[in-house]
Amino acid sequence: MILVEVNNVQLACIEHNDNLSGIGFFGCITSAGAMYETPSTSGLAHFVEHNLFKGTKSRTARDIWMDSARIGANFNASTSHNHIISYVTFPNENAGKAIEILLDTIFNSVFPEEEIEKEKEIVIAERRGMEDDIMSKFIQQINDEWMPWPIGHSIGGEEDTVNTFTREMVLNYKEFYFNAGNMAFVYVGPLPINQVEDFVKTTMPDNIPWRSPDTFAVDTLWNKNAGSNSR
Ligand SMILES: [Zn+2]
Repeated sequence: MILVEVNNVQLACIEHNDNLSGIGFFGCITSAGAMYETPSTSGLAHFVEHNLFKGTKSRTARDIWMDSARIGANFNASTSHNHIISYVTFPNENAGKAIEILLDTIFNSVFPEEEIEKEKEIVIAERRGMEDDIMSKFIQQINDEWMPWPIGHSIGGEEDTVNTFTREMVLNYKEFYFNAGNMAFVYVGPLPINQVEDFVKTTMPDNIPWRSPDTFAVDTLWNKNAGSNSR
């Protein structure tokens, strides 16, 4: 693995030359997630992740999917207690375009109000689906009973909290966590690092704010935002 810095953001390149599939991977990992939430913001990290693909300054949600489909790129994202990752897999020859689309969603998302409202229903439906799944329900009940906040609570949040999320909350969350000191890019594939570096450099803004990871101490956020750690 080779590590470089592009505009203060770490870029890790893992060379994978015996790639018979001809597929590459590029991801953006942000140190954020459910463990930084309070009872009133439960589910916000996952909600922000869902809204990353809903439109940018130059692309509607539909454009994002159409532009991806045209080059055979496949986008996905996930949220855990300690990270949000969004990533794309693509045919190697379309690496530059795929990286450009992913970085567009990271740095230029506009989070349209109407998409946020629609997404609440999707997230709540996803949550209900997990309630129906006996194993997910069992694990969540164990977490609820025995794991102290902030790590035990549901990543998807509660229906009550999800319904209170606003565009402003999403924008603030995004601005606070998606900054140069708190995210990293990862590329896996056959391209040399300088080429990946060029793709990233030509797309990402060069003035990403930098915030020390120390700012993200759980107890700092937790003590500031909540009065009690029971739910
Ligand atoms: Zn989800």
